[in-house]
Amino acid sequence: MYVGRFAPSPTGPLHFGSLVAALASYLDARAAGGRWLLRIEDLDRPRVERAAAGAILRQLESLGLQWDGEPVWQSRRAALYRAALDALARRGLTYPCGCSRREIADSTLGADGARIYPGTCRGGLPPGRLARATRLRTGSEPIRFVDRVQGELVQALDREVGDFVLHRADGMFAYQLAVVVDDAAQGVTDVVRGADLLGSTARQIYLQRLLGYPEPRYAHVPVAVNAAGEKLSKQTGALAIGLAQRERELARALAFLGQEPPRGLGARELLDWARNNWRLERVPRLRAAPAPAEATPG
Ligand code: GLU
Repeated sequence: MYVGRFAPSPTGPLHFGSLVAALASYLDARAAGGRWLLRIEDLDRPRVERAAAGAILRQLESLGLQWDGEPVWQSRRAALYRAALDALARRGLTYPCGCSRREIADSTLGADGARIYPGTCRGGLPPGRLARATRLRTGSEPIRFVDRVQGELVQALDREVGDFVLHRADGMFAYQLAVVVDDAAQGVTDVVRGADLLGSTARQIYLQRLLGYPEPRYAHVPVAVNAAGEKLSKQTGALAIGLAQRERELARALAFLGQEPPRGLGARELLDWARNNWRLERVPRLRAAPAPAEATPG
């Protein structure tokens, strides 16, 4: 049975970019007769906006994107993440790290713009250092996977990412750990999300293997960018989806995903059409052009 999910971080209401991810995962699940779950990724407390989760739920409902079951909140699941972290620690797969962000600032940049951890604390904390974060030892065996949209990908974690953080210096569990634990706990078979997370996928597969979890299938859809080529977000001035413009926003998101609905349909008919006619193979790997929401003002 297909189980998909949408896992927004409640840092603001849905914008065009997050609508694209929501719609793609919803349609892929529903077209397969599957379940579609909702998970609110509210772990990163400083970035979480109080009212955003409620706004996202209302926007999804108003667009007709009905999820199955109760939404899951990551902020209530620390015990699960702790258990997974402890299981890895017991096998010697993690180590405490005393490095500050500033001390890593000179290391080589990885493909996703983050620093590759040089392994300073791998052999033990230097004398006088306090543990700040917990890192996972990465291996030299390259991680390969076939993405349903992006094709075959391979990443050597030790060279391209370095030992990565599972528990942060500020006491929070890292996204990489939480997402893997939750996808397994929720029985997710298919992850459909924005290609900005493509660079995290090998880390997640590595964790799944270490924890003995099944590996879901992945499909990374193109990411909507603004005219300056930046990913849309609250910071880059993305428009929140007004409830009044449902048809227009759905039609734009479907066009962005390479689907070609007939013109003149209302929101409900558009979504019905899209569920019945969803073709993942039409989704482009990249979208060089600005997102339609930015290209057509108003
Ligand atoms: N919470 C992440 C985000 O909003 C998505 C996580 C995922 O889909 O794996 O970018």
